[in-house]
Amino acid sequence: MELATPVQNVYMVGPTYAKRLEKLGLKTVEDLLFHFPHRYEDYSLISKINQIKPGETVTIQGIVNEIKNEYTKNGKKIQKALVSDGTKILEVTWFNQPFLIRTIKVGETYNFSGKVNWFGHKVSLISPEYEQVSGQRYETLGSIHTGRLVPIYSETYGVTSKWLRSRIAPLLNEYLPLFTEYLPDKVISKNQLLAYQKAIRQIHFPDNQYFADAAKKRLAFDELFLIQLASLKRKKRQEKEKVKYQFKIDPYQTSIETFIKKLPFVLTRAQQRVVREIFHDLAQPKPMNRLLEGDVGSGKTVVAAISMYFSYLNGCQSLLLAPTEILANQHFKTLKDLLSPFGVKVNLRSGSFKKEEEFDILVGTHALLSEKIKIQKLGLVVVDEQHRFGVEQRKQIREKGVNPHLLSMTATPIPRTVALTLYGDLDLSFLDEMPKGRMKVKTWVVPSLKREAAYAWIKKRVKGTKEQAFIICPLIEESETLVSVRAATQEFESLQKKIFPDLRLGLLHGRMKARDKDLEIERFRSGKLDILVATPVVEVGIDIPQATIMMIEGAERFGLAQLHQLRGRVGRANLVSYCLLFSESEQNQRLKAMEKIHIGANLAEVDLQMRGPGEVLGTKQHGIPDLRVASLTDKLLITETRLAAQETINEDLSLKKFPLLKEKLERFTIKAVSSD
Ligand code: ADP
Ligand code: MG
Repeated sequence: MELATPVQNVYMVGPTYAKRLEKLGLKTVEDLLFHFPHRYEDYSLISKINQIKPGETVTIQGIVNEIKNEYTKNGKKIQKALVSDGTKILEVTWFNQPFLIRTIKVGETYNFSGKVNWFGHKVSLISPEYEQVSGQRYETLGSIHTGRLVPIYSETYGVTSKWLRSRIAPLLNEYLPLFTEYLPDKVISKNQLLAYQKAIRQIHFPDNQYFADAAKKRLAFDELFLIQLASLKRKKRQEKEKVKYQFKIDPYQTSIETFIKKLPFVLTRAQQRVVREIFHDLAQPKPMNRLLEGDVGSGKTVVAAISMYFSYLNGCQSLLLAPTEILANQHFKTLKDLLSPFGVKVNLRSGSFKKEEEFDILVGTHALLSEKIKIQKLGLVVVDEQHRFGVEQRKQIREKGVNPHLLSMTATPIPRTVALTLYGDLDLSFLDEMPKGRMKVKTWVVPSLKREAAYAWIKKRVKGTKEQAFIICPLIEESETLVSVRAATQEFESLQKKIFPDLRLGLLHGRMKARDKDLEIERFRSGKLDILVATPVVEVGIDIPQATIMMIEGAERFGLAQLHQLRGRVGRANLVSYCLLFSESEQNQRLKAMEKIHIGANLAEVDLQMRGPGEVLGTKQHGIPDLRVASLTDKLLITETRLAAQETINEDLSLKKFPLLKEKLERFTIKAVSSD
């Protein structure tokens, strides 16, 4: 008997059902037992027949006197049973389930759970759940479909909640002893948690609502606790590492100040604070591991530039990684403009770059990671839009040198508590202030009816003016495939021919050669184009200050964070800017939020509640296993589990005192990384 037993070998499952279960991601007995209900039907009110009232949801128990099929006037079959419990006789009604007259046996005792209602002139139970309350099955399992809180599971074709209950209940009896308690006693008692086995049983078949909640809490606790334990352990381990080149601040203070003074703008207070936080880390003997979170347009690049200048002053090289070539190109230019006047050699890892070329700062995409270059004096690695990098890539980053400092940057607006959970091993900095003078981008959801009018409006704004517009094609697939490229090309051609014949349109998609992309963006930047039609690749980071209109097709297919990123491409200078969200579903509440909310983190909260963390944060990408029970919006539980993880580690970092926990954690982290 093991938890890894394939479902196919389970009594009454077999290959057909095994295939169906696979659609729900359930392959083993353990998966099945960890397929938790998402809600319960409350059939716990048990009543005598002479006391039931229309409108109530009840369970009655009685002997079936009679059951038969009847035909209605329009030829449909209904099933009628007469049930008595000594107080009264009740009529029970089903629709279109002719087989019931064979499954439900006259003379036997059953539970019926459902809604009491009028049927014609009589009070009846309509389409209730039924369950025989005698026989061997009942002796061993008790009632599982009626007379209690009944679990409702996520279902798939041919796999109903009833079917799942009948399989899960006997499995619980058999396999539950294999779930050994692994949480330290202290953690259980301090947080008043249910015991592990009890929680697994009670989440499926709770005695009452209190136990349903307690079971859910215990299992949610486990998920968040393990995530935090894993990241805190990683953090402790990293704290023991030593950098190869220890940076000094004092000798370079004035050079840094001069550099900051000569920037074309004054740093925001948030930028100044973040620079201080980073410099504090950079002066330590252990490598920095900091995540900089800042809304689109909050000015992360310049913070990176200052940090890399500091690395240069200390005689070290830096690496800047971007998720796309377009962005790498742009960063290269920005950094060159900012830093070469100070003697810093900035280079771009592109097709023409030679290995032996010298540089102080090397900019490139993740392609750089798979190359076999070791960078001799690597002091600092900056990763832009870090959520675009997978777990494996993030591991490779540090291997380019010997324990370099790491600065990750992201505009994915993750709420602070969530960030603390997902990135417990990182230190966090927030750029929570926009540069002065930025205006809100006026945003409208545009229904199909107003499409023509919107085109006319765009034409009026961009024709013969300095203003420019982006038109983003629908998101077809997550990665840039030939299909999405073809769609974008078609869209571009039809816009140019039919809608905007007298305007200058350009096209940008991810399958273009790096140099062509660059040329197209340059044409747009220098005002030689009025409109740039693009696939969603422009989402990340492009900085074209005079663009004022962002039009997005099929907006409902995007996440709010993505839309916010796209919207962030305009309104970068002090020009009034607009974002038009074209959508078939104009009443879409999620999209409507874009009209009112202009802060990325707040939009993320909305999305998190409406779509769940998997979609919003790409938890898979972060190497976090799917959360079954816990919610990343449960701030209280996040705090509790973090504290518990901290205390456990303080007591014994090696976890040797808690061997079962140690083993569980190892299995948990392996699963997390390999699920990527
Ligand atoms: P993001 O955080 O989205 O990467 P960028 O670093 O691309 O944002 O900065 C957005 C724009 O704001 C750039 O054009 C940059 O030059 C400008 N910028 C950055 N910091 C400031 C500031 N303190 N004041 C004014 N403009 C700034
Ligand atoms: Mg950026």
